[in-house]
Amino acid sequence: MHHPTRLLVYGFAIVILMMVTLAFIAFYATSDSNGNVNQQVSQQLEKINLINELSTIIQNRTRFMQSMLLHDEEFIEAESWPNFNRLEGAYTETRIRLLPLLAPREREIMDAIDRLDRDINDLNRQVSVLFLNGSRDEASKILLQEVLPKTAPLLSHLSELTQAQRMDVQKALLMASSDTDKSRTQIVIFSIIAVLVSVTVTCIAIWYGRKLSGQLQNMNDYLEQKIYERTESLLDTQKELLEDNNELTRMALTDSLTGLANRSCMNQILRKEFARFERHDQRFGIIMLDVDHFKNINDNYGHDTGDKVLKQLANIFENAIRTSDFVARWGGEEFLICCTTIEEEDLLPIAETIRKLVASTSFETAGQITASLGCAAIVKGESIGELIKRSDVALYEAKNNGRNQSVVSEFTDISLVQDPDGHLDKDSHDI
Ligand code: GH3
Ligand code: MG
Ligand code: MG
Repeated sequence: MHHPTRLLVYGFAIVILMMVTLAFIAFYATSDSNGNVNQQVSQQLEKINLINELSTIIQNRTRFMQSMLLHDEEFIEAESWPNFNRLEGAYTETRIRLLPLLAPREREIMDAIDRLDRDINDLNRQVSVLFLNGSRDEASKILLQEVLPKTAPLLSHLSELTQAQRMDVQKALLMASSDTDKSRTQIVIFSIIAVLVSVTVTCIAIWYGRKLSGQLQNMNDYLEQKIYERTESLLDTQKELLEDNNELTRMALTDSLTGLANRSCMNQILRKEFARFERHDQRFGIIMLDVDHFKNINDNYGHDTGDKVLKQLANIFENAIRTSDFVARWGGEEFLICCTTIEEEDLLPIAETIRKLVASTSFETAGQITASLGCAAIVKGESIGELIKRSDVALYEAKNNGRNQSVVSEFTDISLVQDPDGHLDKDSHDI
């Protein structure tokens, strides 16, 4: 993972952790202090109950003694003494339950209570013995003068204990409330820290997000620029390739010396014209031209002069032919003119015009030259090869007849030379 992204993840993890801790602190702080307070308060209440029980027992005991002395006749010994003894037992039992709950200071009070209680018990026994022996006055005197005066401080000690419990409860409540305040302060501080951390993490996230999107934008721009450049370069290359291709095509169809169409280009032209003838019956014709005694030019003036003558001838032909016609260097000092949409009788005037132009031109170094021309117009059922052959035969005838002349092939109707199966009688075209 990218370094700042990892930091962000850590940041958010810390925020979540803090929130969870906050929830726990809030929960435990309140439940802890509540629990403590509850425990303390219930302990104090139990102590108060036990102390109250003790006071009740003591008061009952005193009341028993008083009733024993005051109600002589009604006092039934057999029933009352077990009750008295039960009170004694209850006192001891209650005291045992109370003792572990007391604080050290309270134990001192309890010791004083115990001492007073022991004295009162001893006196009670004396009172009982005197009463049973009939010394009722003596018994009443001890009760009034010694037992009751000791009972009052005993009860006051007990009330002191109860008071102490009340104060303890108040103290516990105060402590609990201060604990709650403390917890509340802690929660508030922790919340503020959590909020600050969240805000910081959020700010970092926003800042980093912006930085990242900026970087992405830059990267995108850079890529777009690169793609644009690459596309441009590809288009350039494509254009160059296309140009090269066109140049190659042009070279493949052009004669390098004269700049005219070459033989293969002329073959394509002838095929198109042938197709048009077959489909629309549009006749075309060809004129085959061969320079007379060209070998002599080379021999007399050199090969370069021969080349110059060929170039000059090409110029003448290009200017002489109709715009709808084509001229090509067929090979060596032979040229072939394709006349489109033409009848046989119109071939000769064109051929003658060209022948006269050649004959009347003064060529560089070579001077006057002549050329022989053989013409042929396509006929039904004839192939291109057969057409060319016929023009060749006509040219041969022109040469044989003394050169510097044009001859048109005589065949106008191929059906005349077709065999019964409809095939062309090729031999009839041979020279
Ligand atoms: P004819 O009247 O019977 O046509 O006689 P010719 O001398 O023209 O006939 P031939 O076929 O014997 O000679 C043609 C010559 O043309 C032979 C060759 O050296 C020459 N030639 C062919 N191509 C070129 C070329 O590109 N440049 C030059 N300078 N000469 C060429
Ligand atoms: Mg030749
Ligand atoms: Mg020749």
